[in-house]
Amino acid sequence: MSEASIIDGKALAAQVQERVRAAVEELKKRHGFVPGLAVVLVGDDPASRVYVRNKGKRTTEAGMKSFEYQLPADTGEEALLERIARLNKSPEVHGILVQLPLPKQINPDRVIDAIDPDKDVDGFHVINAGRLAVGRPALVPCTPLGCVLLAKQAKADLTGLEAVIIGRSNIVGKPLAQLLLRENCTVTIAHSRTRDLPEVARRADLLVAAVGRPELVRGSWIKPGAIVIDVGINRVERENGKAKLVGDVAFGEAKEVAGAITPVPGGVGPMTIAMLLVNTVKAACMQRNIPLPRPLAGL
Ligand code: NAD
Repeated sequence: MSEASIIDGKALAAQVQERVRAAVEELKKRHGFVPGLAVVLVGDDPASRVYVRNKGKRTTEAGMKSFEYQLPADTGEEALLERIARLNKSPEVHGILVQLPLPKQINPDRVIDAIDPDKDVDGFHVINAGRLAVGRPALVPCTPLGCVLLAKQAKADLTGLEAVIIGRSNIVGKPLAQLLLRENCTVTIAHSRTRDLPEVARRADLLVAAVGRPELVRGSWIKPGAIVIDVGINRVERENGKAKLVGDVAFGEAKEVAGAITPVPGGVGPMTIAMLLVNTVKAACMQRNIPLPRPLAGL
C-alpha cells in the first residue's frame, strides 16, 4: 500500500488566515469597524508567552485589533475578574481569551465563568459548551474546529465515518465529539480507562489522538487507509540532548498504514490560532447582529 498523504496544517492555516483578512476588510468597508481580540496572560510561563505573542501577531496581520495584558504571577483572582469585567464592557473588544494554565491562587472555572459567553472565543464557557451540545450557534473551541477542517482536507464529506477520538478533555475530546456528530460520523470517545485501546482505535476510519503521551498510537493501531489527526504536542529529549516535538502518534509507522495524516509540528498546531481568528470575527458579527462576511462562509 502507498504511503499516507500528509495533511498540511500550515498551508491550510495560511488559507484560513487569508480568508479572515478578507472578511475583516469587508467588515471595515461595509460596517465601519474591525474586530478586536484581548488576550490576558497571568505570570511568565515561557511557552504561554510565546503563544500569546503569536496570537497577537496573527491578529494584527489579519487586520484586527489586538489588546495584550500581561499581569504579574501573583495577581489575585479578584483583580483578574475585574480586568475581565472591563473587557466584557469594552465595545472595541469582541473576543476575550485568558491564557491557561493560570497560577495556583486563581480558580480557572471562576475566570471562564466570568467571560461574556458572546466574547468567549476559546469556547470554554459552559454556555458555549451547552449551545454546541444542543446544536445552537456557539463559539466552539479552536483546536477541535481545526481538526474537523483538517479531516475534511482528506475527505470533504465525513458522513457515516467511524470516528474514534482518544482523549476526553473539555478543550479537545468532548467538543470534537460534538462537531463530528454534527458531521454525521459515528463517534467513540476513548480515554485512559478504555479497555483494549488498540482494538478500539483499529475500528476508526477517522482517528484523532488528543492525549499528551508521546507516540502512544502505533502503526498497528491504525486501520489501513484511515485519516489520522494528531493533536498531541509533546516535547521529548533526543539522544544529543536537544528537545524535539512529537505527537501522540508514532508518525513514521502510522504513515505506512494511514490514508492521510497530520504531522507534528505543522498539523493541528497552526490551525488552532487560525480558528481563533475566525472565532473573533464570528463573535464580532454575533455581537453586532450582522451576517458572517462572505469570505468566511462555511467556516
Ligand atoms: P488532557 O490532559 O486534558 O486530556 C488528555 C486525555 O487523554 C484525557 O481525557 C485522558 O483520559 C486521556 N488519556 C491519558 N492517558 C491516556 C492513555 N494512556 N490512553 C488513553 N487515553 C489517555 O489533555 P488535552 O488538553 O486534551 O491535550 C491533549 C494533547 O493535545 C496534549 O499533548 C496537548 O499539548 C495537545 N494540545 C494541542 C493543541 C494544539 O493546538 N495543537 C491544543 C490543545 C491541546
